Amino acid sequence: MTSGVEQQRALLRDSVAQLCKKYDRNYWKRCIAEDRWVDDMWHEMGELGLLGLTVPETYGGSGGGMTELALVMEELARHGTATLLLVVTGLSRIPILKYGTEEQRRRFLPKTATGELKLCFAITEPNAGTNTFKIETLATPQPDGSYCLTGQKIFISDIHVSDYALVVARTTPYQQVSDRRMGLTLFLVDLHSPGIEMRPLNIGLEEPDKQFHVFFNDVPVPAENRLGEEGMGIRYLFDGLNPERQIGAASAIGSGYLALEKGVAYAKQRVVFGEDPIGHYQALQHPMAMARARLDAARLMLYRATERFDAGESAAVESNMAKLLASEAAFDAWDIVLQAHGGYGFDRDYEILQGWQASRLGKTAPVNNQMILNFIGEHVLGLPKSY
Ligand SMILES: Cc1cc2nc3c(=O)[nH]c(=O)nc-3n(C[C@H](O)[C@H](O)[C@H](O)COP(=O)(O)OP(=O)(O)OC[C@H]3O[C@@H](n4cnc5c(N)ncnc54)[C@H](O)[C@@H]3O)c2cc1C
Repeated sequence: MTSGVEQQRALLRDSVAQLCKKYDRNYWKRCIAEDRWVDDMWHEMGELGLLGLTVPETYGGSGGGMTELALVMEELARHGTATLLLVVTGLSRIPILKYGTEEQRRRFLPKTATGELKLCFAITEPNAGTNTFKIETLATPQPDGSYCLTGQKIFISDIHVSDYALVVARTTPYQQVSDRRMGLTLFLVDLHSPGIEMRPLNIGLEEPDKQFHVFFNDVPVPAENRLGEEGMGIRYLFDGLNPERQIGAASAIGSGYLALEKGVAYAKQRVVFGEDPIGHYQALQHPMAMARARLDAARLMLYRATERFDAGESAAVESNMAKLLASEAAFDAWDIVLQAHGGYGFDRDYEILQGWQASRLGKTAPVNNQMILNFIGEHVLGLPKSY
């Protein structure tokens, strides 16, 4: 017998599937061709309450938790229409909800739930890369309590369509802290402020999402846009990183299932030797079966992670493992499906190469899988820190 919660989740998936009939791959491809972001789809997601998931009703949201948001992301990815902005919005709202002032919650959360206000996330820097502690972007306190932001960020997704960025900056330079975890502060930076320059990067993925190299040249940031206490940003940030891994895993899983759906359909009808289709060959069938088993296993790990997070339990291990397993399984699924398509896989009209490329990103971002293995090695197995 299915429980009420399961029925609600089935309805949620159904409403995403309905949305994806209107905003399908053709819509997605039109946006890419016309060089525009998926604004209409985003607004309709807001109207349907999908963007309000994880935001409590008191702040204009739809309630629900990471489990529901991950289900939405998985379903979008199954249709090949998952935007990275959902990953960074999901991550960025957690610290606002947990550590923002009442005024900040009321100012930001309701509008992100409707889609009126878009929020991106900026942590990566050219000289720091994976080593977040080494970031150099500096927020200097001013006599009136505001801050002056200087520095640069790279690979920032969808900042060109966003209204605010959750920026991780140093309020004390790296060289001046005794503990590298200290001195980091979070800011909600109004992207219409003076002194912000965005240069598009030449990222080879065929998606409506875009990445930018961003320069902050003495950007004024009012005191009321600082999130939480000065210097304590890393603690707030860590709370948002597990959700980021979860939504990343959900995206990979949905995309992996899409690959298999395409691969199986093709392998059932393509005949080259005798009368049997190529799906008859174990050389293709077994890797596809393996990918399916690994995607299903990653999915179990994902929803264990989201349920633990939603219950207020620690979900770091499960979130990291889910992201690792999902991104590896999704890439392997696209890889064998590319193989199964032979030369046609390289014809962009088949939309295999694009999925293969996008799935490769999952092994590198939002965090590379080597860092996840480091985490498991150190914190689960108890081995020495390796870097
Ligand atoms: C399409 C795309 C979208 C992105 N969107 C955003 C965004 O919206 N906001 C944002 O802030 N960032 C974003 N990023 C940045 C992304 O999170 C970083 O690229 C990533 O964290 C790695 O940083 P790096 O590229 O400088 O790699 P580096 O830190 O230079 O690492 C290079 C490689 O070295 C290896 N490595 C590094 N450290 C270790 C270690 N300790 N142990 C073992 N191996 C290691 C890994 O294999 C890694 O891939 C995006 C990136 C891409 C490509």
